Amino acid sequence: MPLKQSRAFVLRTYAVAEADRVAVLFSGDEGKVRAWARGARKPKSRYGGALDIGNEVEAGWYEREGRELVHLDRCELVTSALPLARDPVRAAALGYLSRLVDTFAPDREADPRLFRLISACRDALLDERPAELIVAYFEAWLLRLSGLYPRPGRCACGAGFEEGGAVFFAAGPVYACTRCAPGHGEPTDRLSAGALGLLETFWIAPPSASAPEAPAARELFRFHGRLTAGFAERALPARHALEGLLEPRVGPAGGPAP
Ligand SMILES: [Zn+2]
Repeated sequence: MPLKQSRAFVLRTYAVAEADRVAVLFSGDEGKVRAWARGARKPKSRYGGALDIGNEVEAGWYEREGRELVHLDRCELVTSALPLARDPVRAAALGYLSRLVDTFAPDREADPRLFRLISACRDALLDERPAELIVAYFEAWLLRLSGLYPRPGRCACGAGFEEGGAVFFAAGPVYACTRCAPGHGEPTDRLSAGALGLLETFWIAPPSASAPEAPAARELFRFHGRLTAGFAERALPARHALEGLLEPRVGPAGGPAP
């Protein structure tokens, strides 16, 4: 079997056998790959610290006949996520984004847009951009690439959302103005005009470009959390952990940051 090589991000790892690990990678060429890293838990492992979560690596692997897991042959660090370890909130944000990709991305399906999204959001976190803004950005795009979260345009009646915001119905998925909303059944959520304005910048600019508008970012962060948990059909513990860390900043009822 030929060696396959690709740039990849380490989504997570878990211990297997006596001294090994399974690394879940998101690669540029083949999407999500589960790779058996022999000896990865030994003190002098040849993988060194390359398998830490969030690292960008150059990975090489062999298929194993009849097995779902590939054999990780080499894994060299390209850029480390270690600087994030100094900031527990951004580290938790990166951990959550990694779990999201692991939850939503199918195995062995190349997805260049998702690969670029991971790369851009990881860079923005390393660049010390606000965690709730970057997570809201990432979730918006992940849901949109999955076809679950359309770009708001105008209400079917022709009204824009610039003044009164919009009401979102996940069942559609569709947005309606506040006047038409009662005819659509049970609303999923409301979005303020400010949040919709920020969302619009998400669709046209990289995460590093969005101006940190704290209240709108918080609103989208909370909204996307509910949407993501709904589509994943369960609350994601990694997001819960992140929310716990953000609590003093976000405030339980949208109160001001201390
Ligand atoms: Zn309307």
